Order: sequence, then structure tokens, then C-alpha cells
Amino acid sequence: MNKVKIATVWLSGCAGCHMSFLDIDETLLDLADRIEILKSPLVDLKDFPPDGVDVTIVEGAVANEEHLEILEEVREKSKIVVALGDCAVTGNVPSMRNPISPQELLERVYGKEATVNGVLPDEVVPPLLKRVRPVHEVIPVDIWLHGCPPPARVIAKAVLALLDGNTPQLTGKELKFG
Ligand code: SF4
Repeated sequence: MNKVKIATVWLSGCAGCHMSFLDIDETLLDLADRIEILKSPLVDLKDFPPDGVDVTIVEGAVANEEHLEILEEVREKSKIVVALGDCAVTGNVPSMRNPISPQELLERVYGKEATVNGVLPDEVVPPLLKRVRPVHEVIPVDIWLHGCPPPARVIAKAVLALLDGNTPQLTGKELKFG
């Protein structure tokens, strides 16, 4: 049986959504026979395979220019894109910095209000976007999974539904499971 090729991507988020994915526990064993994770912080594989993947699951909001480049490749290399969790779906926690400018944010975090070594970074932090954005404002998203994080059972049901070929029913709609 051909395995469904999956990638996961971590943008501006706390990793809680990836942890919730791992919390699906024994379902992971069921999935192991049916999926192959080819790019993910979970397995430390950093690059998409040349022919892309079937599904990419995106955690986190879009906060900097590097994220824009990542998402461009995600859309190009993925048949289905899933926005996993409220940061990806709405901007959520990372977007709380939107009322202030990126420069003011950097000043507050690294500059004059820093308690030690107050120096603005000039290399390590990619240029910040003026406004943190949800994923669907940057690339088309096929499936949204709400929650902070989405419950493991919701993630499991969504992934199993995809594996069973139920994508059309899910496309462009919120998933709500009891
Ligand atoms: Fe973390 Fe919640 Fe954002 Fe997921 S939605 S990355 S759990 S803050």
C-alpha cells in the first residue's frame, strides 16, 4: 500500500500543536502503517522531497519574512494544506504584538527594556512582518483545525478522514467533531 506523504511545519507557535499531534497516542500506531512523515521538526527532516507531499500540516502564525518563503514552498509542494491550531488559523497569541510596530517590539524585547545585554539583534531574528497574519492570508488553506491546541482526538479524526479519501467534504470548511 502506498503511504500518504506528510510534512509538518512550525512557524510562530509554541509547539503545543505538534505536541497535541503526538498525543493521539495509540492512533499513531494505526497511522504508522499508512503515513510517511517526510519533513517535520518531529523527525528532524528539514527538506521537502523533490516531488512534494500529499499533506502539509502548518502550526503557528506568519510573523516574519522567512515564514513567507516557507509557506510559498509549502503551497507549491503540498496537495493539501492544513492550518493546525489557533495561531495558524487566526494569528492568536503571536498576533498580540500587532498593535505595536516591529521596531518597537524589538526595542522592548532586546533594547532599552531588556534587563541584561540590551542589544538589538541584526542577524539571528529574521525581519519581522509589520503585522502577524494567519496562514490563509498568505497561501490558500484547505483545512482549518481550531483550538489552542486542537484536541488530539480532533487531529486524529481529521488525519484519518484524509487517509480515507474524505478530503472534498473537508476542503474549505471548519472541522467540528463532537
Ligand atoms: Fe501553541 Fe496554542 Fe498556538 Fe498551538 S494554537 S502553537 S498550542 S499557542
